[in-house]
Amino acid sequence: MTVPTLDLNSGHSIPQLGFGVFKVDPAETERIVTDALEAGYRHIDTAAIYGNEEGVGRAIAASGIARDELFITTKLWNDDQGTDSAFAAMDRSLEKLGLDYVDLYLIHWPTPKKDRYIESWHALEQIAADGKSRSIGVSNFLVPHLERVIAEGGTVPAVNQIELHPAYQQRDVTEFSRENGIHIEAWGPLGQGKYPLFDEEPVTAAARVHDVSPAQAVLKWHLQIGNIVFPKSNSPERIRENLDLFGFELTPEEVEAISGLERGGRVSAHPDEVN
Ligand code: NAD
Repeated sequence: MTVPTLDLNSGHSIPQLGFGVFKVDPAETERIVTDALEAGYRHIDTAAIYGNEEGVGRAIAASGIARDELFITTKLWNDDQGTDSAFAAMDRSLEKLGLDYVDLYLIHWPTPKKDRYIESWHALEQIAADGKSRSIGVSNFLVPHLERVIAEGGTVPAVNQIELHPAYQQRDVTEFSRENGIHIEAWGPLGQGKYPLFDEEPVTAAARVHDVSPAQAVLKWHLQIGNIVFPKSNSPERIRENLDLFGFELTPEEVEAISGLERGGRVSAHPDEVN
């Protein structure tokens, strides 16, 4: 099983499939990330606000896997936006993870009411120049936020990590991002279980034909349309299931039918309202 990689505009590459740890209990994170690494995942997505970077770090250290075989992402929390505060936050995350560098550092939310994301972006550019993050990017950025970063920032983000699943595809953001060489990372790729995705006919039909689960059909849809995904699960069986996506291919018709499930169904807050 080989997870495909995508080339980022930073010159580095990213495994298209990883493992996310949002809402993974800090006390259980080391065990769950260890399960994921043993299953074969090499890309882990965490964030300072998840409170579980130390568990991720312990699992990495215990795994014995060479650092250059891993791709580790963490994120700058909203309260730490700014210049010195962002530098300090990066150092705290590295310390907790037990790493010299991360592969990707993201601004977690634009928080436009604070109006500090351009300043924060310049801090991330310095963090990359200092070798503390190989690539830098953004999360939950809408088109106006991306336009400002591109116009005033200097560096184009390597990725934009946004809520994206068949019921909520944010086509304006994905088109703008791709036109500007920014890869899309789809968070909540399974709709966080808040939307009855696994009962939708295009999903169940594709799953039946390929003898896979509805979750596998949805994750494959993401991969085939070019999204980077890191589904979260606490269960070893599902952790393995979500990695087992490379023995089948959806037809163009199946991809199109799942794309037809767009419902405008955002499951999280609007990025302009998050502070
Ligand atoms: P997700 O769509 O991955 O859903 C997780 C839910 O799906 C869990 O409840 C899990 O039990 C269930 N699930 C997982 N595998 C399954 C399977 N095979 N069959 C049936 N159910 C299954 O949602 P998520 O965890 O919110 O998103 C993935 C990752 O994205 C997070 O862990 C985190 O790393 C990242 N994320 C980022 C942001 C952001 O603001 N940048 C926000 C949320 C999540």
